[in-house]
Amino acid sequence: MNARIPIAVGPARSGSAYDSVARASNEVAGRLAQRLASETRGEVLFSAADRGRYATDASIYQVTPIGVFVPKTAEDARIALDICRDLHVPVVPRGGGTSQCGQTVGAGLVIDFSKHVRQVLEVDAEKRTATVEPGIVLDHLNAQLKKTGLWYPVDVSTAAQATLGGMAGNNSCGSRSIAYGNMVHNVLGAEAWTSDGELHRFGRFDEASGAVRAFGERVRELAWTLRPEIESRWPKVLRRVAGYNLDIFHNQNERPYTADGSVNLAHLLVGSEGTLALTRSLQLRLSELPRAKVLGVVNFPTFYKAMDSAQHIVKLGGDGTLTAVELVDRTMIELSLQNPAFAPTVRSALIGQPDAVLLVEFAGSDRAALLRKLTQLEELMGDLGLPGSVVLMPDEGPQKALWEVRKAGLNIMMSLKGDGKPVSFIEDCAVPLESLAEYTDALTQVFRKHGTKGTWYAHASVGTLHVRPILDMRRNGAPAMRAIAEEASALVRKYKGAYSGEHGDGLCRGEWIRWQFGPAIDAAFGEIKRMFDPLDLLSPQRIVNPPRMDDTRLMRFPPSYRVIPLQPALDWSAWDVQNDPATERVTAPGTGGDPARGLAKAVEMCNNNGHCRKFDAGTMCPSYRVTRDEQHLTRGRANTLRLALSGQLGADGLASEEVRAAFDLCVSCKGCKRDCPTGVDMARMKIEARHEHGRFRGWSLQDRLIAKLPDYAAMASRFAGLLNLRNRSPLLAMLGEKLLGLSAQRSLPTWHSRHFFNGGARGATREQLLAAARPVVLFVDTFNGFFESGNAQAALTVLEAAGYTVHVASKEGADGKHLCCGRTYLASGMVDQAKAKAAELLDALHPLAARGIPVVGLEPSCLLSFRDELVTMGFGDRAQVLAQQSLLLEEFLAREASAGRLDALKQRLKPLAGPLLVHGHCHQKAFGAVTPVLEVLKLIPGAQPQLIESSCCGMAGSFGYEASHHAISLQMAELSLLPAVRSAPDAIVVADGTSCRHQIQDGAQRQAVHAAVLLARQL
Ligand SMILES: Cc1cc2nc3c(=O)[nH]c(=O)nc-3n(C[C@H](O)[C@H](O)[C@H](O)COP(=O)(O)OP(=O)(O)OC[C@H]3O[C@@H](n4cnc5c(N)ncnc54)[C@H](O)[C@@H]3O)c2cc1C
Ligand code: SF4
Ligand code: SF4
Repeated sequence: MNARIPIAVGPARSGSAYDSVARASNEVAGRLAQRLASETRGEVLFSAADRGRYATDASIYQVTPIGVFVPKTAEDARIALDICRDLHVPVVPRGGGTSQCGQTVGAGLVIDFSKHVRQVLEVDAEKRTATVEPGIVLDHLNAQLKKTGLWYPVDVSTAAQATLGGMAGNNSCGSRSIAYGNMVHNVLGAEAWTSDGELHRFGRFDEASGAVRAFGERVRELAWTLRPEIESRWPKVLRRVAGYNLDIFHNQNERPYTADGSVNLAHLLVGSEGTLALTRSLQLRLSELPRAKVLGVVNFPTFYKAMDSAQHIVKLGGDGTLTAVELVDRTMIELSLQNPAFAPTVRSALIGQPDAVLLVEFAGSDRAALLRKLTQLEELMGDLGLPGSVVLMPDEGPQKALWEVRKAGLNIMMSLKGDGKPVSFIEDCAVPLESLAEYTDALTQVFRKHGTKGTWYAHASVGTLHVRPILDMRRNGAPAMRAIAEEASALVRKYKGAYSGEHGDGLCRGEWIRWQFGPAIDAAFGEIKRMFDPLDLLSPQRIVNPPRMDDTRLMRFPPSYRVIPLQPALDWSAWDVQNDPATERVTAPGTGGDPARGLAKAVEMCNNNGHCRKFDAGTMCPSYRVTRDEQHLTRGRANTLRLALSGQLGADGLASEEVRAAFDLCVSCKGCKRDCPTGVDMARMKIEARHEHGRFRGWSLQDRLIAKLPDYAAMASRFAGLLNLRNRSPLLAMLGEKLLGLSAQRSLPTWHSRHFFNGGARGATREQLLAAARPVVLFVDTFNGFFESGNAQAALTVLEAAGYTVHVASKEGADGKHLCCGRTYLASGMVDQAKAKAAELLDALHPLAARGIPVVGLEPSCLLSFRDELVTMGFGDRAQVLAQQSLLLEEFLAREASAGRLDALKQRLKPLAGPLLVHGHCHQKAFGAVTPVLEVLKLIPGAQPQLIESSCCGMAGSFGYEASHHAISLQMAELSLLPAVRSAPDAIVVADGTSCRHQIQDGAQRQAVHAAVLLARQL
């Protein structure tokens, strides 16, 4: 979307107008936006919300840019650079924005390469090289390379988000750097624009000519002059990413930068954090994909012993097969054991109660040789006084599961509620392995002294252990951070390590460059910067002349940060807590002092790590997967909400147009609730946003029509014939689109005058239910009841066939209407009406649930709201009791089957041949309720259900019916669901969601069925 011009860019709005560039006048910003819009094909994003969304990365900092530019092509980026030079506006290049030190925040024009500038330009499998544009994500590159048997091996944890341009900018390092090195070891060349607009090719120095040769010669001169300084000051470790790589002419790294000892000038750009040149393309060195991997999990009685042993373990890797030695400490082990999904995996890796474990991985082509390595590891541990301490994992399945646990442990740590958060600022100091034990021990004491603690994890193989002390940045966090940083730096110096060993310098570590290298080398860095960028146009005040790390004017949560008081519609008090940094204990719900009663703190759980920018397995985030826009990303939405709630988007707060726009494409799939490491639940937040918007601006006719469906469905069904004409008459469909905004290209659900609720009494009475030995309540929702009665009837049939006495849920005091969960009202933000529905539901069902009777439902979004939104509506324990008894049909049947109570049903089921595909509804996925569907379908003899690896179907309640969303809805379905259905033309497709079935029908012309129907058919 191009911005309206001229726009207002004022320091008052920026809130953190730190350096002089932020004072650029509105006029300059307006001219910049105007020229970008007219001279390029890129997207020009200059609204306050857009700038706010690009004001942060995965660091603690926030600096509002003058504007954001998303180039369509590399050429657009060049033109933008020229325009910025003309107007003296700094340029801040950006990839995924996952930097942890504030590298991508700056008061200039942020250029986001990740959306469009992401082609693989060339792959030469023979030479093992690839040339790529900077915006391509590592996982996407590796997916494309897979067929060649090669990969790019700098496997950062953010592989699903990190772009190659960003990885080069930060000189990123992967878990397996001990085997493959860092970015600098794996870049062969780069094409890049210096700030004068010249495109240069950086590669081997001995082949360089022209300006690049001149750059190289001067850098060589500097390196030569500073030889003694370099030798005495430069950390001699693999993991050093601070400053510029002046040592390419006098290598101090544990590993040579090039295989043949030549000097490569592209390595000067690696780690330069966008301050020297704008990368146009990178030439990469590829490696052979390892054919086999084995894992040994070493259990240690003390953390110290684990750290001390790392130096010996790495010696097993002399032949290059040792690929990782990763630490998981006691805190993480315990956190993982508390998670039922991970506990069995963790237990399988433990011997007794270790204080720490090291995951030792060997990889290569000869599996037998790798297995011998595991034996050597066992022998080594025996020699080190720990015989029998290694759990062997030679097979891929258990290895994968354990690596997942290691990642999840960090996520659990990051989900600490309250204002104190684990803060990344000394998280990647690298020390020589022989000092690792002493260093970690001493730093633990430093944390203790400052009343906090840190959890240790990650790369023991290379002496880079991640640790984040818990600090409250709104209160005393900044001075505490400084104090800890100073003490940590003294330790790093004592052990001759690198202060910045993985995540780069940015705003957080820039000022430590001079400390690390001394004034002479620092001055040389200044000269390099001036040589490449005499105009100081590219990411100024980074690496050279950086600000103080604890300048609170640059922070996301400065002491002046305030939240606008707000009474949310739902209960967010669980987030309204504070924590104790030393024990991580949280205070009681509602005591956190949040003026938005916990909503703001729930929003602030987003730490911008960018995990939602993913396209692999999982649901999060379908709208981003289609648009690739920051605005339509969970992170973008969380940032928009945070800015709105803290008044940074103006007085309208949550009711603002910016918030409405950010939620426009959110399909409330709850993918983020499950997949976001910190559990950001945007679907629930959308209810609040819509509620606030509706309260201030009213609800549209379309909103009301959809929300009130449960109330008029009984009446409307009497006019089924008339209403169904709309699906047969294009004219009526067009009229509906014009008046109600419902897409004429969509069929609407078919009305039936005979439906489940008026089809005569079914099931047992309440009295019969209460007297029964195997009682079940069947909750029939509006959609299955009125539009697809067959599903409700099938569920009843199956439950009765299984021997249950089934009572169909109905309103107390029967007024002829069915019960409703209130979902349609929630979707429109009409929370009061939804609460009224919930009250009726509780009146009817709580007394039954309180007797331990299960309440079973068919429609995932309806039934699962009993376990989700209903418990946040202020009904207290009654809602909790109902939530505990509420199950989807398959959850119930799977539970009963595993208790041996479905033997009779199993015997009645007729065999099923042929392919069987299952599409999980997003809410089923969010609540871990997909596996029971597969389990129950497997009760049918011969059935082999295959789960479609899909995100949201894109229909999402009314979303896909709306004319404004029709196209995007289908695009979401085309990501994986519809192609999977089309590719199996003979398969039976099971989909429990009403909307999902409708989308499959519309998009693939296939009739999907509810699992209940399939089960009933097989009886
Ligand atoms: C949870 C988490 C885990 C992480 N794990 C790791 C890890 O295992 N190893 C690791 O090394 N890092 C890690 N990081 C840090 C970060 O993910 C990496 O540094 C990553 O490579 C950054 O990629 P990006 O695309 O997000 O780059 P960005 O953050 O967008 O940018 C990084 C730098 O590159 C510059 N840049 C981007 N594009 C260009 C361009 N076209 N031209 C010039 N400069 C450019 C930017 O200005 C910036 O200075 C982690 C971060 C998080 C939040
Ligand atoms: S929404 Fe969640 S996954 Fe996305 S950036 Fe925020 S914390 Fe990370
Ligand atoms: S609810 Fe779904 S669409 Fe909305 S932000 Fe979360 S993952 Fe994205």
